[in-house]
This record gives sequence, structure tokens and C-alpha cells, in this order.
Amino acid sequence: MSEKFSATLRIGDLNDYIAPSQGCVVSLKANSKSTSSSRIPKFNSEELEKFGGAVKKPAEAVEPVKISLKDCLACSGCITSAETVMLEKQSLDEFLSNLDKGKAVIVSVSPQCRASLAVHFGLSPLQVFKKLTTLFKSMGVKAIFDTSCSRDLTLIESCNEFITRYRHCHSTSNEKSKLSLPMISSACPGWICYAEKSLGSYILPYISSVKSPQQIIGSVIKRHICHSLYLRPEDIYHVTVMPCYDKKLEAVRDDFVFEVEPQGHKITEVDSVLTTGELLDLIQSKSIDFKSLDESPLDKLLTNIDEGGQLYGVTGSSGGYAETIFCYAAKVLFGKEITGPVEFKTIRNSDFKELTLEVEGKPVLKFALCYGFRNLQNVVRKIKAGKCEYQFLEIMACPSGCLNGGGQIKAKRGESAKDLIQSLESKYMENVLVANPFENPIIKALYAEWLDQPGSEKSKRLMHTEYHPVVKSMTSELQNW
Ligand code: SF4
Repeated sequence: MSEKFSATLRIGDLNDYIAPSQGCVVSLKANSKSTSSSRIPKFNSEELEKFGGAVKKPAEAVEPVKISLKDCLACSGCITSAETVMLEKQSLDEFLSNLDKGKAVIVSVSPQCRASLAVHFGLSPLQVFKKLTTLFKSMGVKAIFDTSCSRDLTLIESCNEFITRYRHCHSTSNEKSKLSLPMISSACPGWICYAEKSLGSYILPYISSVKSPQQIIGSVIKRHICHSLYLRPEDIYHVTVMPCYDKKLEAVRDDFVFEVEPQGHKITEVDSVLTTGELLDLIQSKSIDFKSLDESPLDKLLTNIDEGGQLYGVTGSSGGYAETIFCYAAKVLFGKEITGPVEFKTIRNSDFKELTLEVEGKPVLKFALCYGFRNLQNVVRKIKAGKCEYQFLEIMACPSGCLNGGGQIKAKRGESAKDLIQSLESKYMENVLVANPFENPIIKALYAEWLDQPGSEKSKRLMHTEYHPVVKSMTSELQNW
């Protein structure tokens, strides 16, 4: 896909949106001792024979097998956890080494990461965000943004997609229209990876085509905002800080690479993903007293911060997809305005909840939150059998959702996992205003100046994606046999 760059953002004076650096408080350099292969033992041929390995003579040597993130099954067993060190382009070292390569480094921080650090340090999410801004700017990062902002764009596109699918499903009776519903959320790469590699073609048409907040902010930065910063997309190194390792898998998908004309540079929407735990490693390894760092002004260009200096966003610690789309559909399809928090009904366990809208005593909308592999496998079985009663499913691979992602900071000694989740859930929206994504002035400006409207041809081209069933090779089938 190629894209010409000519648009500029007219949101106002840039100085208001990119806060200046607060001066250098810490000095950080790439760790010269790379860890990228230190945990992988290397054996010579004699040692291999001792272990019973078949040693080939050089003349018979074949190309070594290379493993990349694209081979990952998101099983959390190898690459996504212990062998993360192998992922050269996705490590802390790689991030640090890019700080002085002449590119403008931009960091986008997720709200789940802020909540995790806030619980760990006993701060509010806003304090964490301001201290992270100080920290990153002292390292030479040009701007620090907020994925709650891009999540609002994801939610608006998802609302629009749901209405289109619902109307399509109810306007025709042909077999294809049945594939419109249920619509399944697409923001969890653990779920997407499982669907593509283990479920394949029957489930993929149900998955929303809207990109995740991580990829949307990457797309916005590299395709549009860069011009407001007087940068070319190839001059930006964009890093996200996320609650899970699976976001690294998402960032390296071919679907999220585009070409710029006329040079034909290949641009990656997100160049590197750090987990919250890796960010804490950075803080600790450099002996930074995080709690004592100054609190810098936030970069407003792509950050949900209002005039009074408060963060805002949707509730729902995994993105609020079910709730936001439910309220929108109730209004657009049935004229029902839902004010105040919606009531979820717990079904089997706390990771499976329902939302129902009744009109004249009859259920007209039925949505579900479905977290963790056990629950998602149950619901997927129902879809396959044509017995799914829901029109929308917010599916997340992790039990308890994104706040409990594998990349978050672990429970302290003596603290139970349940207690940690409760602390994270109450911290997540601490002093964060609940706001309707459709009212977000930054997103309104992006539509007005660039994307036209939700679901427009441009939105579909730049903010949506595709999924691909993975055909299993004979070798992998034999290995599983
Ligand atoms: S549910 Fe887990 S795997 Fe999925 S996006 Fe959230 S943290 Fe990542």
C-alpha cells in the first residue's frame, strides 16, 4: 500500500501540543552488553555429539532455521515470554540504541501501563504519565502520546462498523449476510493470533476490521501527524508501551507496513513495543528514583487531557468496546439513550458478562464480554454451531483482560493476583473523567481534516485491516500428531 503525504493538521499552534523537555534528569545510553543471545547456549560439534545430536559436515549443512515473531502462536510458552530476548527489534536495548540514531523518537503509552506503574509506585495515573514524560524527554524522546486517544478513534470506527453489519444482517436473508454478526472485537493480538492460526477461515469474517489502538496511533503518527511535526515518516522511530508481549506480535504484522512515495521507503506503524515490566526494568536498572521525578506537562497533540488538566477516556479496562458500541447501537438503532454506567450481568464467571437491551419486553441487543481462553473457546464453539445468541463479543485472551496482561508488573511478595487486579481496576480510572469518544476534540479534528467521517473510504484504507487464515504445513501437522 502506498500513501502520498501532503495533508497537515490544523489543530492549532504546535507549541501548545508538544511540551518542551524539562531538561536532563537522567542520562541513559544503550546497554552495550546485548542480552539478545546470552540465554541461548552455543555448543560446538563435539559437545553436540556428546548430547546425541546429529552433527552434519559443513558440506551437508543446510540453512539454519530462523524464528521470528511471525511464527509465534501466542501460546505464552516460548517466544512471547522466555525468548523475548531473541526479538532484536522489540527489546529495551533496541529502543535505547535508537535514541541517538538521528531519528525522532515518539513514545505512545497505554492507560493499562500507567495504571500498573501507578499501583506499583503509589501514584495516580496522571502523576505517572507526567513523570514518564519527564523521564522519556530527558532521554531525548521528542513526544509522548496516549493510546486512550487513538482508542477513541478505534471505538468510533467500531461503532460505525457494528451499525453497518447489523443493518446488513437484518436487510437480507442470504447466507453471506449471516456472517455479519456477531461482530467480534479485534484489539487483542493474542485472540487474533489464535483465531488465524487455530480457528481459521470460519471465524475471521466475524472479527472487526478496525485496527487496534496501538496500530491506529501508529498510523496517525506516521501517516499524518508527522507533517505537523515537520518530519517524514521514515525519520520517526515510534515505540509503544503496552500491557502484553503479544502487542509485539501485532506490531510486526505485514499488514501494518506501508510504502511512501516516491522513494518507496517501507514504513512500520509501530517500530518497537515495550511492556510495562520492561519499562520498570529500565527504571530500576538505571536506579532512577521514579517517585521523585518532576512532573512535566503532557504533549496534547494526541493525548486525552482536558483544559483543566485532567485525563479523560472510556471506562472498561480492556478498552470499553462492548459498552461503547452497546450505547451507540441502542441510540442509533432503537432510539434509546443510555445514560450512566451500563449494567453487566455475570453469567458463568467474572470473565463472562452480558449486556441486554430490551424494547417492549423483548431483547433486541445482546452483547457479551468474554475474557480468557476457556471462555472464548466456549463462545467460539457456539458461533461454529450457529448457536451464538450475541450480536457483539468483546473477546480478550487474558483472564481479567488487559490490566492482567503478561507484560504488566507482577504482584508484590505477599500480594495475591486477585488483590493486584482489584487495585489495578480501582486505580485505572482514578481521577480520569469518563468521556464519550465521539466528543473527543482531537478525534473530531482528525476526521475533519484528514479522514472525512467514520467508515469513509479513507478511514477504511488507513484505519482498518485484514486477517489471514494460516494454512498449517505438513511438518507442523506431523509435529502435533
Ligand atoms: S487481553 Fe492480554 S493479550 Fe490481549 S491485548 Fe490485552 S493484555 Fe494483550
